[in-house]
Amino acid sequence: RKADVECRMLVLGSGPGGYTAAFRAADLGLDTVLVERYATLGGVCLNVGCIPSKAVLHAAAVIDEAAHASDYGIDFGKPKITLDKLRAYKDKVVGNLTKGLAGMSKQRKVRVLEGVGKFVSPNEIEVVGAAGTQLLRFEQCIIAAGSQAVKLPGFPWDDRRVMDSTDALDLADVPDKLLVVGGGIIGLEMATVYRALGSQVTVVEFMDQLMPGADPDLVKPLADRLKKQGVAVHLKTKAAGTQAQKDGLKVAFESAEAGKPASIEAQLFDRVLVAVGRAPNGNRIDADKAGVNVTERGFIPVDRQMRTNVPHIFAIGDLVGNPMLAHKATHEGKLAAEVAAGEKKEWVARVIPSVAYTDPEIAWVGVTETEAKAKGLQVGVGKFPWAASGRAIGLGRTEGFTKLVFDEATHRIVGAGIVGVHAGDLIAELALAIEMGCEAADIGHTIHPHPTLSESVGMAAEVYEGTITDLY
Ligand code: FAD
Repeated sequence: RKADVECRMLVLGSGPGGYTAAFRAADLGLDTVLVERYATLGGVCLNVGCIPSKAVLHAAAVIDEAAHASDYGIDFGKPKITLDKLRAYKDKVVGNLTKGLAGMSKQRKVRVLEGVGKFVSPNEIEVVGAAGTQLLRFEQCIIAAGSQAVKLPGFPWDDRRVMDSTDALDLADVPDKLLVVGGGIIGLEMATVYRALGSQVTVVEFMDQLMPGADPDLVKPLADRLKKQGVAVHLKTKAAGTQAQKDGLKVAFESAEAGKPASIEAQLFDRVLVAVGRAPNGNRIDADKAGVNVTERGFIPVDRQMRTNVPHIFAIGDLVGNPMLAHKATHEGKLAAEVAAGEKKEWVARVIPSVAYTDPEIAWVGVTETEAKAKGLQVGVGKFPWAASGRAIGLGRTEGFTKLVFDEATHRIVGAGIVGVHAGDLIAELALAIEMGCEAADIGHTIHPHPTLSESVGMAAEVYEGTITDLY
């Protein structure tokens, strides 16, 4: 059968991994086709993930800051929320970026094909879309088909009051009572938004802390603030069964510990958001027809150059493994394109930062204190409480702190965690410090501007070195 389209490089999926790979491949001279099942480029991150969630989180932060302003004599009164306008704002932010991607594809002569792509052989993909069925033949391919929300069984998914994160970002209404199943990053970000908009929010989490993966001390200021704001949090708890009733969704709970009763009774909720993780799309693209190995869960194993077991086919992003983060996907996308174009490169990044854009934000990078303990690593910690930061005091947000983890033998930084407003922006310096192999003295001797929250980074290093004992 004759191919409808031939290309040097085919990229399947246009999320942060896919578009980065396609653009880099084109910049390196490879004739590139980008296949995407949706009408806009950008994948989960731009359309229904990172970007829209941060746009609505900004609105939540403004609502909270306006309420807080009455503490220093400025009263804005009760906010009047026009949901249609907020949704339009979020859509405008997303549209701005997706349009930008369309323009950047054109500039580079990346051919974009809309439709669902599936492998039919090691060098061919069939794309079914509005324009009919097309056969694409490629020399090399980068699979960037991403992930989707796990649809936990036991919930009536055909009832629109049961939501995944995409539904929640649609902002259909502000439910009086919202249940968030899953106290990870996505669940807590959406809880933050809906609580600020006026919902009474309950969060249930299976594990024994919110934001599993982050150090418990980093999570505590967030948990305390949520409690103060009236968010009910139930740990070691799972939603056991959900019945759709006319007046709401009746949810029963179970303790995660066998034989123990749940700390929360069955209740009616107006909406339920299920945010219990994301599943890779590796099993949905007929990868076997190309001979590409896929694990049972749908991950595609790759080597340090992002190659699958089939040498001319690469894979990147959420579907190659955790952490499922946009900046990991873009990094991998660039690497795969460069290797495909003949560059001798491999994955060398030491760390990938994680950020929860909750209020306060929680950010961490490298080895966590919990992980260091579990592995028996000889580490020491330098911690700077923001109660001693002039800037944090001025902001009225002293609950944060900055914690640096050092290897005791070399005093080199191996990890860091920050909780507080803007923690996500502050963590980047520490990712760089780890990449550069900085010692505590390097960080402590670097002059940080005053008065900024970033000073807390230098101070935490000095606390570790013992060059400041008094917090001033
Ligand atoms: P994706 O973004 O999933 O893109 C894959 C693309 O492939 C999709 O557009 C899909 O339609 C397309 N596709 C799949 N199969 C086919 C096929 N067969 N044919 C054609 N097209 C196909 N990460 C962060 O780093 N920071 C954040 O703040 C953040 N916030 C998030 C908030 C939410 C609510 C969610 C859900 C996720 C968030 N993430 C965040 C995670 C981030 O969105 C993902 O890690 C990132 O999008 C992964 O990029 P990717 O390129 O691997 O795949």
